[in-house]
Amino acid sequence: MTTTSEPLDVQPTPLALLLLGRESDPRSERGVDCPGDLPAPSDPDLVERARAAKAKLGEKVFVLGHHYQRDEVIQFADVTGDSFKLARDAAARPEAEYIVFCGVHFMAESADILTSDAQQVVLPDLAAGCSMADMATAEQVAECWDVLTEAGVADVTVPVSYMNSSADIKAFTGRHGGTICTSSNAERALEWAFQQGEKVLFLPDQHLGRNTAVREMGFSPEDCIVYNPHKPNGGVTAEQLRDAKMILWRGHCSVHGRFSLESVEDVRARIPGVNVLVHPECKHEVVSAADHVGSTEYIIKALEAAPAGSSWAIGTELNLVRRLAKAHPDKQIVFLDKTVCFCSTMNRIDLPHLVWALESLADGKVVNRIQVDRETEHFAKLALERMLALP
Ligand code: SF4
Repeated sequence: MTTTSEPLDVQPTPLALLLLGRESDPRSERGVDCPGDLPAPSDPDLVERARAAKAKLGEKVFVLGHHYQRDEVIQFADVTGDSFKLARDAAARPEAEYIVFCGVHFMAESADILTSDAQQVVLPDLAAGCSMADMATAEQVAECWDVLTEAGVADVTVPVSYMNSSADIKAFTGRHGGTICTSSNAERALEWAFQQGEKVLFLPDQHLGRNTAVREMGFSPEDCIVYNPHKPNGGVTAEQLRDAKMILWRGHCSVHGRFSLESVEDVRARIPGVNVLVHPECKHEVVSAADHVGSTEYIIKALEAAPAGSSWAIGTELNLVRRLAKAHPDKQIVFLDKTVCFCSTMNRIDLPHLVWALESLADGKVVNRIQVDRETEHFAKLALERMLALP
């Protein structure tokens, strides 16, 4: 599967192959091992066990559920939302000693960064990483900064990192005067960054960076170049770096990256009058062909506001699309792609893992704690605070 129009002449990231592995990988933004005895998925008492453990913990536990989580997990969430909203919700519940994050590793890190030292963040399965976040490692980004320094452009470049990145990348961003962005505020973050410098290094999602710069801010596609960490010097020349306005990291979401122009054309032919609504992590050609583009929260609100009888094809994660179709039976809501596609790492958080995490906590044992070291936390927080202060 390719997610760009570039030829596939590069080494794919090896990290993605470790998603189902049991070995630890220090280069990954997540762990890949899950210790302990998990209940069997066939256990008919799982729902009751989750309820009982949660009731025993009471106010001490706060369960966060990302929109892309399975139904069997989301039913136990105290709050649902996107990663940034969830991290802030956890910080607003200081009485909750344990934050169980049903999402992926970088989200649990962000929650640890934004919550107090007295709160412990737990990820029910350590193998729940994010392939996009794994596409930018701290070593690769440090090397990129060296390349920019060599080309004489580092001083005028401001890093802007998408929320979907590891704590290390957020800390790099904070250290180098940059900010974090979400898919809702990427335009404001870029406007701010261009007031601080002449160029932006956008990490790690090339599509969100390109879509925001070209679609929202009027840059031309030629203003954007792609830095490929698997090629010497990123596969770009010093001259290209000097000419570019947007230096896009070659990363993408493996779920949103799979939607194609063909899927848009196909759904338009199948459902006359359909509204195509996609997430900005989709490829530029898909976003350009869509009727509406927006973050997960935008998608949810747009469907709430849509008139009865209207038809919608949604380009985002399937668990969410299915839930939205169920919640709005008066509208026709279909998944944009013909083949089903869940986020495989999000889906690793299942009911057995949640039961295991909750029961362990109820027994006084903290498992799978996600803890960001002090220095990384300090600089990552700096970048997050810059985002909060965006005009
Ligand atoms: S949907 Fe994409 S960006 Fe989100 S966790 Fe999955 S791979 Fe990462």
